[in-house]
Amino acid sequence: MPTDALRAVRDRIGAGEFGMDERMQQAVAGRVDDLIESVTAAERALAKLPLPSVSDAAAKMAYLFYASGHGWKRYLAESSASAAAGIAIGDAIQTTIAPILPILEQEIAARHSTGVMVRAGTWALPCAVCDSDAVSMTRTKVGPAEQEQLVITSLSPVTVFRPVTGPRMQDLIVLLDTSDVETIINYLRETQPGGCDAACPECRRLYCKTHYAIEAQWSGSWHEATYATCPLGHEHEID
Ligand SMILES: [Zn+2]
Ligand SMILES: [Zn+2]
Repeated sequence: MPTDALRAVRDRIGAGEFGMDERMQQAVAGRVDDLIESVTAAERALAKLPLPSVSDAAAKMAYLFYASGHGWKRYLAESSASAAAGIAIGDAIQTTIAPILPILEQEIAARHSTGVMVRAGTWALPCAVCDSDAVSMTRTKVGPAEQEQLVITSLSPVTVFRPVTGPRMQDLIVLLDTSDVETIINYLRETQPGGCDAACPECRRLYCKTHYAIEAQWSGSWHEATYATCPLGHEHEID
């Protein structure tokens, strides 16, 4: 079973091998159970007949990356015992997901993209997994005397919208009407400080919030960074 490696670490934690205190041991074992469950669900979704459920599998993988992400690693770094368990868990995750990722990649690549979707005053670029909006751009005017702007959604819970105005907005609208997603992403990357955060720089696909693991890191009330990890495990900083 592909989850064998994670189950083995789970057993080692349960046997007290890492020397964590009881509270920590329970929390860590509970999280490993959670990871096992999401991998199992992802596999089941990919093996579904007559057709695999790519959307479910990708969502489960995104959850796995979230649950084993920055916040979790920070928590494990609190003591040397839990840090050691964290290394073992990290290795087990890699072993576990290695056979699943190429299958998921293949399924996502096989999907046909719907291209730019146009609704009244709004253009949307679809998620590579589920076709729901990965990023949408809406033409608005704040007030009658105000300049028109194109409001671009962001994945970040900190910077929720990014506006574009003037000639760049006009250029972008022309591109949106040509429906060439790749060109639109490149244009946003080159001209906008926030780029196109819904585009994974590694697999070059767009994903929605359900299919990204999004983690904002805080130090008290200070926002340090926000990371997005695609269902194939590629992480990029978005804020
Ligand atoms: Zn999606
Ligand atoms: Zn990716």
